[in-house]
Amino acid sequence: MHALAEWKALLNVIFSHHTDGALRAAVSLANSMSSQELLSTEHLKRFYDEFGYTDRRDGEQEELSTVQAVRPTLRALLTARGEDAVAIVNNVLSEIRAVPRLVRHDPWGWHVHAVAPSCDFATRVLVETAMAMIDVIRADEQSRLSTCEQANCCRIVLDLSRNRSKRFCSTGCGNRAAVSVYRARKKGHAVAKSPKVDRQ
Ligand SMILES: [Zn+2]
Ligand SMILES: [Zn+2]
Repeated sequence: MHALAEWKALLNVIFSHHTDGALRAAVSLANSMSSQELLSTEHLKRFYDEFGYTDRRDGEQEELSTVQAVRPTLRALLTARGEDAVAIVNNVLSEIRAVPRLVRHDPWGWHVHAVAPSCDFATRVLVETAMAMIDVIRADEQSRLSTCEQANCCRIVLDLSRNRSKRFCSTGCGNRAAVSVYRARKKGHAVAKSPKVDRQ
C-alpha cells in the first residue's frame, strides 16, 4: 500500500476537520447557483451560521452580490482537475496576495488562514476553498469531488465517505435515478416478453 494511503487508512482521516468544513461550505455555495438557496441576505446569514464562519459579516445586499458572483470560481476550483486545478488555486492565492498564518478559533484547533479577518466575506470563502483544495490536491483526492450522476443535474457531489459510495448530490436525485433504473428495467422486460414480429 502507498505510504500515504496506509497512513490515512490507519487514522481513518481523509482531510482535517477544518478542510472538510471548508469543502462542505464551498460545495453548498457553488450548488446554490442551481437552486433558490441564496437569494437574500437572510439566506446568506443562515449559510454563515450553518458553516461556523467567524470574522467580518456586513449583512448587506452588496455582500450577498459579491458572494453570489464568486460562485462560478468556487465551482471551477472544486471541479477542475490536474494542472488546471493547480493553476486556479495558485491564481486565486496570488491575486488575493494570500499570507498564510496559523490561527485558532472555535470550534477548530490550529489551522491556516490566508487572509485578514477584516477581508470581505466572499474573498474569505474563496481563499478558504483554495486552501482546502491545496489539501485535496496534495492528498491526491480530487476524485472525492464529482458531478451528480442523475441526468440533468449538474450539482457537485462531495464524497467524504470511507467507501466512496456517494454518487448523487441529494437523496432526491438518488431516488429519481432509482426510479429511472426501475422503469428502464420494466420496459426492457416488457420488450423481451413481447412476441417477435416477422419482418419478411
Ligand atoms: Zn478558521
Ligand atoms: Zn443531483
